[in-house]
Amino acid sequence: MISVNNRDFLHVPIADYIIPAEKVAHVQIGNNAEHALLVLTKTGYSAIPVLDTKNHLKGLLGIGMITDSILGMERIEYERLEDLRVDDIMDVAIPRIITTDKFQKGLDLLINHTFLCVTEEDGTFAGILTRRVMLKEFKKYIYTN
Ligand code: AMP
Repeated sequence: MISVNNRDFLHVPIADYIIPAEKVAHVQIGNNAEHALLVLTKTGYSAIPVLDTKNHLKGLLGIGMITDSILGMERIEYERLEDLRVDDIMDVAIPRIITTDKFQKGLDLLINHTFLCVTEEDGTFAGILTRRVMLKEFKKYIYTN
């Protein structure tokens, strides 16, 4: 088991480790599933945030959710992509984490999620915190302490 003597890093705010909103691919409420599938495929990301027109975080959308929504009895009904809206298929039950939360909360949540959507207190999307970035920071910490 890894043992670290100094646990100060657990109390560092996550703000410094966030990939900022302007660098994060997203879709907007009202976009259709065809557009979302295009963004997901072109970027190569497994899931992306869904925002409203005021940049508030509304949910998360992954390729699996889109495929699931067009599964027919015998075939995938691609023609439905155009009429399906992202808000009808996105996952709204996503963990809540805000910019002032600490490293420890991020670490705990990232055990079950590859990335977390981070907001300001008022729900404005601030960016994402990825497992990759947190693991890199954790590794850096372990090697230097
Ligand atoms: P990574 O740590 O780069 O492997 O990213 C893990 C997941 O985080 C990706 O599959 C995406 O779902 C999400 N992600 C990472 N970077 C971005 C980004 N710039 N825009 C949107 N989603 C991202």
